[in-house]
Formats: sequence, C-alpha cells, structure tokens
Amino acid sequence: MLDNLRIVLVNTSHPGNIGSAARAMKTMGIRQLVLVDPQEPLDGRATAMAAGAVDILANVKTVSTLAQAIADCQLVIGTSARSRTLQWPMLDPKAAAAKLFAEGQAAQVALVFGRERTGLTNDELQQCQFHVCIPANPEYSSLNLAMAVQTLCYEVRQAWLPGQADVTNLPDDESLAYPSQAELDGFYHHLERTLTQVGFLRDEHPGQVMNKLRRLYNRARPDSLELNILRGILTATQRASGHEKNS
Ligand code: SAH
Repeated sequence: MLDNLRIVLVNTSHPGNIGSAARAMKTMGIRQLVLVDPQEPLDGRATAMAAGAVDILANVKTVSTLAQAIADCQLVIGTSARSRTLQWPMLDPKAAAAKLFAEGQAAQVALVFGRERTGLTNDELQQCQFHVCIPANPEYSSLNLAMAVQTLCYEVRQAWLPGQADVTNLPDDESLAYPSQAELDGFYHHLERTLTQVGFLRDEHPGQVMNKLRRLYNRARPDSLELNILRGILTATQRASGHEKNS
C-alpha cells in the first residue's frame, strides 16, 4: 500500500525542504515523490537535507500542474494549516491516514502539500476530495513543510502497521469503485458545457456556481457507476435540447 501513496509538493521554493521531505518519507517507508513546478531545481541543498534518502530524490517525478500529478489518483487529500473561506470536507490526520490506507490497497492515492509561504491555492484545494489539517497551536499552526510531511506520513505508517489500523468499516472493494481525478474532471467539463448549452450558466460567470456544484458532487463522492449515470443524464439533456451528443 505504501507504494501506492504519492507525496505531491506544489511549487516548493527551497530545495532543502524537498530533501527534508524525502528523508521524512523514507523514514516512514513511503517512496513516491512528485514535484509540481518546483521554483528551483534540485541541488546540493536538497541532497544534503535528504541524507540517506537520495534514492527518493533520484526517482522524483516533476510535472508542471497539480492536475498532471494526480490524474490517475482515486483519492487526493490536500493539506492546509488553517481553515479558509473555502468550506470543504475535513479529516483529522488519523482519519486521513485510515482513508489513504484503505483506498491505497488497490488504487493510487495522494497527499498534496503547498508552498512554504502561501500553502495551496483555493483552486488546488478544490482538486482534492478532502482536506487534512494537523491540529497545531491555533496561534502558530503553520509547520515547516517537511515537518508536515513527516507528521502525516507517520500517521499513514501507523495505519499500515499490522494490528494498529481500524479500517474494518472500509471494505477493500469500495476502493475499486471510484473514478480517477481525470474522469471527474471530464464530468465537470461535461456538466459545465451542458449547463451553458441549456442556458442555466451564463458564459460570463460560471465560476461560483461551478465551484458550488463541485463541492456538492465532491461531498456525495459518486462511484464510477454513479458517475456514468450522471454523464448519461448530461448527454440526454444535450440531445433533448438540440445540442451535440457526447461533447
Ligand atoms: N501560510 C500557509 C502555510 C504554508 S506551510 C498556509 O496557510 O497554508 C507549507 C505547507 O506545509 C502547507 O501548504 C501544508 O502543506 C503544510 N502544513 C503546514 N502546517 C500544516 C498543518 N498544521 N496542517 C496541515 N498541513 C500543514
């Protein structure tokens, strides 16, 4: 399962933090590191902080957008040091680890970390099904990036260690049934197009309504079969309103 978990670092500014994060991961037996648009290339500072975890840096995957980093993931959990204007399903670190453990048995899962200064943007947070916050000192709640990676990887390891996890209420085959992020994206585009074609959405301001709809569907978390039904409804709606099929 630990090999199905990827740690995604978005737009990190200090290579040293990437090295420290690699070390934190390796101590917990987690190896897949994906960098989204790092601000500087990996260098001696990263290697120095990685210590014995340079193998993780050697196998690092670098992509330019968060969407690319998580396209094939079934479960994506974003991290945040504080609650924002955005209301989104929240998990505590133990519950997040239990979910990653349960779904990571049979599918790719991801934990996403933000920029040192500003964290993740709302748009990036909306690409995650759940958010996790380490309940730190409310007056000083922002951990160093690699320390946050350490804390959450530790929780995943505790869920993974035999006899420590209580995941009996999350059956394994449930993990096979959910669509990937790319399939969800396809659905949201189809939904937006259809709502525009039938005149519900105005071209000028689709943003807020689409965000709210995303939040609604995210909360319901349709499985693959349900998503197919929803797409079928959209196609039928397009046809009935005289618009193209399957577009
Ligand atoms: N001011 C930023 C802090 C970023 S800290 C913010 O409000 O988000 C850099 C990254 O470390 C965060 O994006 C998150 O991935 C992680 N992090 C730091 N503190 C955290 C906490 N208490 N809970 C969860 N993640 C945390």
